Amino acid sequence: MVDGGMHIEVDACKRILVISPHLDDGVLSVGGIIERAVANGAEVIVATAFTADTPAGARISPLALELHALWDLGPNPFEQRRAEDVASVTSLGARVLHGNLLDALYRADQAGDPLYPTRQSVFGAPSDRDRIGDALVELFDAWISEISPDLVLSPLGVGRHVDHVLTTNAVRRLAMVRAMNVALYEDLPYATGLFPVTAPDSVEAALGRTQWQVTSPQVISVDLPGKLAAIGAYASQIADIFPNGLAFGSVLDTYMRREDGAFGERVWHTATS
Ligand SMILES: [Zn+2]
Repeated sequence: MVDGGMHIEVDACKRILVISPHLDDGVLSVGGIIERAVANGAEVIVATAFTADTPAGARISPLALELHALWDLGPNPFEQRRAEDVASVTSLGARVLHGNLLDALYRADQAGDPLYPTRQSVFGAPSDRDRIGDALVELFDAWISEISPDLVLSPLGVGRHVDHVLTTNAVRRLAMVRAMNVALYEDLPYATGLFPVTAPDSVEAALGRTQWQVTSPQVISVDLPGKLAAIGAYASQIADIFPNGLAFGSVLDTYMRREDGAFGERVWHTATS
């Protein structure tokens, strides 16, 4: 399972909790590990935090309206997005949990003003008026109590999306107060170094920013076809994740070819794992 904090025997894990900020991040980033672990008999749960419906009667920001149009799922797109997630995750043999928290797109301050009304703000620092951090810690605590995972896979926070940063910070807060084995996955597509298109981020930059005590990387060998098919189930998200008609299969294939000739998904050990 987890050996001295430096190596994960993924094939020996019994229960893996993959914490996903959005409905697609877990499969995009570690779909191959999910498929491999399930094939080896593990129970894998892909638990997504920000899955709530568009709040009725709220002021919807121009950015949210722009994304609603791009996704083409009507005024309450999260209903279909949750269905996409169920189809994708179950195609890999894993189980779904939905946290029912509001996406950054919809979070507002007490006056009802959107906290993240532009792409720049979504990929900027979390607002000090954003109160979601405590709810995340509470949610993850409940999930871990319910599941008792022998491994928790958390985003590293590559890309600087506020929801990813708040997620990894909340997992870390929890890891400081309860025993859990956490490894950090490289958030895709940002870990390719191509995204966000206007200000690409990198794994190196994310490692420099993270508050986690990161120890060492591990590449876990995986196959690509099952993961690609599962990503395809997030049909509404493809144009947003891979803009300008980028062929996501070749983008991910290139990323997964590691420098040393291995082909796989890379995770980073933390001082708690
Ligand atoms: Zn995301």
